[in-house]
Amino acid sequence: LVNRADFLHALEHDIKPAFGTAEDILNQYVARGIINWGAPVTHILEDGNLFAQQARATDTSGLVSVLIEGPPNSGKTALAAQIAKNSDFPFVKVCSPEEMVGFTETAKCLSIRKIFDDAYRSTLSCILVDNIERLLDYGPIGPRYSNLTLQALLVLLKKEPPPGKKLLVICTSSRRQVLEEMEMLSAFTTVLHVPNLSKAEHLLNVLEASEVFSNAELKQITHQVHGKRIFIGIKKLLALIDMIRQTDERMRVIKLITKLEEDGALEDPGMA
Ligand code: ATP
Ligand code: MG
Repeated sequence: LVNRADFLHALEHDIKPAFGTAEDILNQYVARGIINWGAPVTHILEDGNLFAQQARATDTSGLVSVLIEGPPNSGKTALAAQIAKNSDFPFVKVCSPEEMVGFTETAKCLSIRKIFDDAYRSTLSCILVDNIERLLDYGPIGPRYSNLTLQALLVLLKKEPPPGKKLLVICTSSRRQVLEEMEMLSAFTTVLHVPNLSKAEHLLNVLEASEVFSNAELKQITHQVHGKRIFIGIKKLLALIDMIRQTDERMRVIKLITKLEEDGALEDPGMA
């Protein structure tokens, strides 16, 4: 026979989070690992880890909030999840617009509120708020956004957890400017910028790591991109490499260069 006390005990102690451990949850967002394509990656992870340590330190305030911003496809979500993973905080919750599709403004606010309330109960909590501008229903045409959700988030981003509790909030956005206009930037402890790949060396590092091209092909590519302007997000580049993987080996280099050019990721320096 199971009574109410047993049930509550199980709820408290035995039931694993619905979507697995903190690490399982975060691994979904780092699906393809982190390729160290250049100095920016090292710096973001280093800084992120320092802020996570600050959040854990006993002598500091209980709240550290980090905004990871950069262009679409630059790898913001994966880096945020990696920093959360490195922090090793046992309680992790992800607040993402995907999970709130179709929610009314009120339901959205309540749901965000609940995530924070749950976090306050744990000693070391990490909340990942992915794609803030989408969570706020921001649309560039108009422009419009949910003011109710914005106010809720602003309050929560500034609210200290109860004494003795530590909270690390990591947010991502590809609309730094918009958050600035909403006066949200100042709510963060720090802002870390994630850039696109912008050097031949960055590109080559990723191509090498993908193990799709031979050394001779990598040399050929180096030669072909020499002196050109490179600008591409890691997510887009990895998708492109996946496509190349499927093409005839003899066509791979030309296909890569053509695709990069078509996407505007590879340009002659004269063009702007
Ligand atoms: P969006 O603008 O659509 O939100 P995003 O900037 O959040 O995109 P991610 O969803 O994080 O981009 O996609 C990055 C993908 O690239 C992930 O699958 C990740 O595992 C992989 N990846 C490999 N190396 C890196 C790296 N150095 N930094 C970030 N992501 C990386
Ligand atoms: Mg993202």
